Amino acid sequence: GKPDPILVVDQMTRTFGGITAVQVEHLEVQRGIITALIGPNGAGKTTFFNLITGFDKPSSGRDASWSFDGRKLDRTSASRVAKAGMVRTFQLTKALSRMTVMDNMMLGASGQRGENLAASMIRPLWRSQENQVEEKAVELLGRFKLHEKRNDFAGSLSGGQRKLLEMARALMTDPTMIMLDEPMAGVNPALTQSLLGHVQSLRDEGMTVLFVEHDMHVVRHISDWVVVMAEGKVVAEGDSSTVMSNPAVIDAYLGAH
Ligand code: ATP
Repeated sequence: GKPDPILVVDQMTRTFGGITAVQVEHLEVQRGIITALIGPNGAGKTTFFNLITGFDKPSSGRDASWSFDGRKLDRTSASRVAKAGMVRTFQLTKALSRMTVMDNMMLGASGQRGENLAASMIRPLWRSQENQVEEKAVELLGRFKLHEKRNDFAGSLSGGQRKLLEMARALMTDPTMIMLDEPMAGVNPALTQSLLGHVQSLRDEGMTVLFVEHDMHVVRHISDWVVVMAEGKVVAEGDSSTVMSNPAVIDAYLGAH
C-alpha cells in the first residue's frame, strides 16, 4: 500500500570512543505492520533502539532528527517518548527479577526502565496510581496468562514467561508502537508459537511492531518488512523473501557466524 511512516529517522550517529555504533542516514518504519530489524552482533540494533526511545543520546556532529507519529522526538526524555506512544521492552535485569510480576507491571505504567529502582521505591509509586492502572495490569496479565504468577518474583518465571511479561509491562502505557528486543531469545519451543501469536495479534489490533531478532525462522514467519543493519548502517530492506535472498545481506549477515 501507500507508505505511511509512523517513525522517521534522519542522520542519527552514535559513537563510543573510536567505535561508530550507529550511523543511520534515513530510516522509516511504516504504521500498522511488523518490521524486523536484523543484522550481525554489534551491528548497532540495540543502540538504535536506545536512541529512538530516549534512553541514549546521539553523538553530536551531525544534526540527528527523528519524529514519531508526526511529533519531533529528538531531545526528548524516555518517559515523554513513552507518553508519545512508543515503548520498548527490556530484558529482565537483576533488579527487575527481584520484584514481583505485579510490581513489574506497575513500573511499566510509569514508562521507566527501572534498572536502578528497588521494589521499595516502586510501592509508593504503585500506591499513587489510580485503580484503573491496577485493573489494566490485571487485564494484561490475564491476556498473557501470567495472572497466577502476579505475586511471584519475576526472576522465577521461565524464559518464555519472562518474554510475555516484558511485552505485558510495555503495553501498560497503551503504546501505538512497541519495540521488542529479541522476543524469542531463550524461549522454549512450546511457547514460541504462543509468543508469535501475541505479536501478530498486536499488529492485527493496529499496533506498529518493530523487533530485533536473530532467529531467521521467526523473522520469516511474522515480518511484513525487514530492515538489515550492518556496522551501524541500513544496508538493505524489503519484504522478508527479497531481503533473505539478497547476496549483500547474506554476506553481511553470515559474516558474523
Ligand atoms: P547484538 O545483536 O549482539 O545485540 P547489536 O546489533 O545490538 O548487537 P549494539 O549492542 O548496538 O549492537 O552495539 C553496537 C556497537 O557499539 C558494538 O561495537 C558495541 O560494542 C558498541 N557499544 C554499544 N554500547 C556501548 C557502550 N555503552 N560502550 C561502548 N561501546 C558500546
